[in-house]
Formats: sequence, structure tokens, C-alpha cells
Amino acid sequence: MVAKITNGMSDWFGWFPASTFENNTCIFVPSMANTCVFDTKEGLVIYDVPIRQFAQKTFDQVRSFTSKPVKYIIYSHGHFDHAFGYGPFIEEIKKKGWDMPEVIAHENCIRRFEKYEILGKYHDWINKQQFASVSGRGRDAVVSARETLDPTIILKGNDSSYSFKLGDVNFEIYHDIGETDDSIWLWVPEKKTICTGDLMVSSFPNIGNPFKVQRYPKDWAIAMEKMREKNAEYLVPGHGRLIEGTEKVRDALSITAEVMHFVHDEVVKRLNEGKWFEEIYHEMLEIYPDKFRNHKILRGIYGCYRFAIHATYRLYHGWYNSGNPTDLFPAKTDEIAQELLKINSEEKYLEHAKKLYSESKKQLALHVLDIVVKGTDGKNGETLVEALKLKAKILKEKVKNETSFIAGNIINNAAHQIKERLKELKSNK
Ligand SMILES: [Zn+2]
Repeated sequence: MVAKITNGMSDWFGWFPASTFENNTCIFVPSMANTCVFDTKEGLVIYDVPIRQFAQKTFDQVRSFTSKPVKYIIYSHGHFDHAFGYGPFIEEIKKKGWDMPEVIAHENCIRRFEKYEILGKYHDWINKQQFASVSGRGRDAVVSARETLDPTIILKGNDSSYSFKLGDVNFEIYHDIGETDDSIWLWVPEKKTICTGDLMVSSFPNIGNPFKVQRYPKDWAIAMEKMREKNAEYLVPGHGRLIEGTEKVRDALSITAEVMHFVHDEVVKRLNEGKWFEEIYHEMLEIYPDKFRNHKILRGIYGCYRFAIHATYRLYHGWYNSGNPTDLFPAKTDEIAQELLKINSEEKYLEHAKKLYSESKKQLALHVLDIVVKGTDGKNGETLVEALKLKAKILKEKVKNETSFIAGNIINNAAHQIKERLKELKSNK
């Protein structure tokens, strides 16, 4: 199952070798997220440090190319796979008596670190869910998102930017919101290189992630267009391989901007038409153009278009999203199911779910099965076991056809929980 859920994700996870470009002056080290090191006469500028578990590996790879001291570390944003693998670099600095580097981030990155302090356990739980197929269910969190190396140069406000020169290389840093509110991207004119952080992940933007806070489709599109003006020859994405060649870089930025404008503007149009989420969502699925669906850079292998519809809706809409006052202060779903089971037996619902399944109406079958699973009083053990088995089977089939790693993990985790419950029911017999 791991193989399936991670299908097409090997580049995203950085499972390919480190390399250099621009006459060995830029070092590209993949390790889940990408690290890019600029080797100047006066020392190194590092854009993004890796996930903590891979810090030593990344450090060793950088040191196989250059021995110069680290002068700057830039955080594209404060996620665990971009700002926590600084350890070996700092240890080396202390050991060699070098000056501590400047650490550059946006002020919202500091707020993010503070948030991780109060929500540490919750974030550990989320990461376990989201990355279950690669991190394993029983193991510790992917990384503890605490113990930070705090920024020394802090970009403030919405339109902030910062530039500096090291050796004879200029570094221009810009803040734009997109995946997060603390993103900063880097333009290095002498190297014709843009580092994007997770504003570009070589697949559909991670917007509308079911576990995560609000993200910003329109601003994301605008950030892509600002990057495009630089006419870069190299684009270092947050995840995935180096994008090389002016045309390829331009195309990747353009199509991403275009899809973000599309999803934003089409949802907004429907909000203005007085439509509720369900209608908007299903209409949006109908109108998704093939030019986006078939574009390599927009593959929905991590984030996906379906999530992006949620992201845009949530940006402008409150939590009352059905337009049906029954849903404003709803009863417990277990109790609703219990009432439905008073009208018809568990066997009848199970039978109907089987029929739906046989007609390939799997999603509808799941809804009907939930009446049995949620409403059961447990007396009719055989029916419950059969309902759970069919639910697990449908979920597993959905995982097989699911392109998104995140969605795949959510569904697969639930199938696993059902299997655990079935084991429990068997042992209680
Ligand atoms: Zn990332």
C-alpha cells in the first residue's frame, strides 16, 4: 500500500541525487524538501534547511562540494521540512569558531514557531495522519516542530523585501503569501535562479489541505507572476527536481498562476450567484479544463484541484456551508443513524449498500453503510462485521484510484482503523 500511496511521489520526496548547476556555484540537495546552496567567494548562502532527520545527510552532501563557511540561512517558510535541519551546520560553526550566520525569515514565521509551541501535540498528530504511508503508524512524529534556530533578519509586513550582497552575488528576497502567510522567495540575478519554497512543488499547489489552515489562491497566482518577470533560467522548487531552461521555468510559473486564478475566480463567481458549497464543488469538478488536468506540473499527487475548491470557498465563507438550517446545529450523526435504523433494519441498509456497490456507486454505498456502522446497537454482530468489511473494501479501492498522497493517506488510515475494529470484534466474540 505504501508503494501505491507514494506513487509518483519519488521526486516530491527528493529520492534522487544532489547536483550542482551554474558552473558548480549552486548546489541542489534534495531531501524531502530541497535545499539550495549558493557558493560565493565570501561564503555560503543556504536557502532552506531540510527535515531534521535528514540534516546530517544534507550537511555531508553540501560539504562534499564546498568547505566554505555558512554566512546566511534563509527560511522559505517555517514548515518542518524547510526550517529545522540546521543542526550540523551550526555545530560546525561552533566547532570552527566561525561567526554565527544571519538567519532570514518573515515575521509570520516567528508567529508560526510560537503556534507550534502551543499546538505541538496536535501538529504531531496531523503529520502522523498526513504522512502515515511513509512514516509508519506506530512511530514518533515525522519531526518535532519545536527547537528552532531563530531568525536574525526579519521581513515585516505584506510587501516586504530584503536584499544583500555576498562575494559578488546579489540576493533579493521577497515576501508573498500562498501556501503559507510566511513565505519568502529568493531571486539571485547573477545565477539566473529563483528559489520558490513551497510556492512551487512541481505538482498541484498544496492549497486546501484538509488538515491545514487557510491558504491564499489569488495571492499565490500573483506571486507566480512576479517570479515570472525575473526571467529565470533555473527554478529551485520546494519539492521536486530542479526546473531548468527559461521556457520551462516560465511555463511552470504561468500554468500555476493560471490554475490559481481559475479556481479562485470560478468559486468567487459562484459565491456571487448565491450558490452553496455542494453546488459549487460539483460544478467546479465539471468545468476543470483538460489543459490543467493534463499538465505535468499540475498533477494532483499531493495537493489537488478538489482541495483548492475548498481553499477558495473557505477564504470568503464561514462554516455554515450547506444552506440547510438542519445543518446549523445538527444532531449527532450516531443518533440520526439510530433513527433511520428504526425505519428499516441493518440488514436492509447493508443489502442496499451492496447493491450500490455492485452498480459502482461506491461513495453512495459508503453513506448508506455509515447508517449501519454508526447507528448499530451491536446486537446484530454479523451485519455490523459485514458492513465494516464492505466499507474497508471500498476505502481500499478508493485508495488505489486516489492520486493525492494526502487524500490517499486519510482514506487508508480509516481503512486501517476499521481493520483494527474488526479484529477487536472478533476477539470479543
Ligand atoms: Zn515543503
